[in-house]
Amino acid sequence: MLKKLSATFIYYDAAMTTAKRLEHFGETVFATWSRIAVENNAINLGQGFPDFDAPEFVKEAAIQAIRDGENQYSRSAGHPLLAHAIADTFEFPVDAMEEVTVSCGSTESIANVIFGIVNPGDEVIVIEPFYDSYLACLSMAEATPKIVTLHSPDFTLNEAELRAAFSNKTKMIIVNSPHNPTGRVFTHEELSLIAELAIKYDVIVLSDEVYDKLVLTGTHTPIATLPEMYERTITLRSLGKVFSVTGWKIGWAVAPPKFTTAIRCSHQFTTFCAATPLQVAAATALRAPDSYFIDYANEYRKRRDTLVDGLRSVGFQVHSPEGTYFVLADHSPFGFDDDISFCLHLAKKCRVVGIPPSAFYHQSKEGASFIRFAFCKGLETLKMAVERLQAIG
Ligand code: GLN
Repeated sequence: MLKKLSATFIYYDAAMTTAKRLEHFGETVFATWSRIAVENNAINLGQGFPDFDAPEFVKEAAIQAIRDGENQYSRSAGHPLLAHAIADTFEFPVDAMEEVTVSCGSTESIANVIFGIVNPGDEVIVIEPFYDSYLACLSMAEATPKIVTLHSPDFTLNEAELRAAFSNKTKMIIVNSPHNPTGRVFTHEELSLIAELAIKYDVIVLSDEVYDKLVLTGTHTPIATLPEMYERTITLRSLGKVFSVTGWKIGWAVAPPKFTTAIRCSHQFTTFCAATPLQVAAATALRAPDSYFIDYANEYRKRRDTLVDGLRSVGFQVHSPEGTYFVLADHSPFGFDDDISFCLHLAKKCRVVGIPPSAFYHQSKEGASFIRFAFCKGLETLKMAVERLQAIG
């Protein structure tokens, strides 16, 4: 049976081959819109990957590791050099050998946490809009998602709705701050509310902090540092964003040993280990001086301001993001029915690609009036994109 999949334009003969646990997923929105960008010779502000190269010292470290013979499987849970470097980056004491699991990107860690810990029928609270792999993994684990919406235009956490989502059946809540795609950095009050409820209902917190070094305004509080939260929190961070190596796929989960055992159980049978020379290079990268991380955030402030000012000048309503390298822009002033038709118009008329955020929603329709742009691009690319957007109308 041929079936149209939501948010994609691909037809698959799903019933013939794809297992039931996967047949209702299409191609990810990132792959779809990167393809549409190529087809239209468009500037790709869709999928979040830099169009500039990684720093020389990081590339050199990988080349050196290959030359040094770091070319076989590593320890499954992570090369000891990297495990120690990761532990040293944390704001709280982390046991490198017992509490760190290196994976092929945080997308693998998300799968490892869910497959390792969540049972069929368990309720898991997911805050929407969300990174799309959360729901896909929960579905494969036969868990029941409970959705809490961050409502536009300010995308703050609604206390009553969050409280209502918790029950004695709740196993886990997935929290992502700095938040993709809204660019919000959750306040101390919001995180304290999540913590209060997690403690009250004895819930595990999966804290996706892959944009932790991309706090452009305000401060990021790792939820594991709040009182009584270390023992119930799994923290995910990664290398790709902060060293512009998204293709290296190096991420890690840090969690108390009781969770780490479960995470490693899944990891050993999914990928066994991440690429060894890249892990060794990651250890070098993480030991970069503080100035690297300060310059990195400053460069991103310039990129953010260039894109936000440009989008406003074209007529979008934009709330400047506090973190991540994404901005959600409200396209309603242009009069389109929904996000997909708007994104298609942009790809064809302006040759600029953004992501239609309805793919990041399960419950609310609020995503339809927005488009997500990534600003992990050179200033010239961003300026050219804004120039092309003048042709929108
Ligand atoms: N996290 C990236 C984004 O939101 C995409 C990651 C991926 O394509 N797997 O753009």
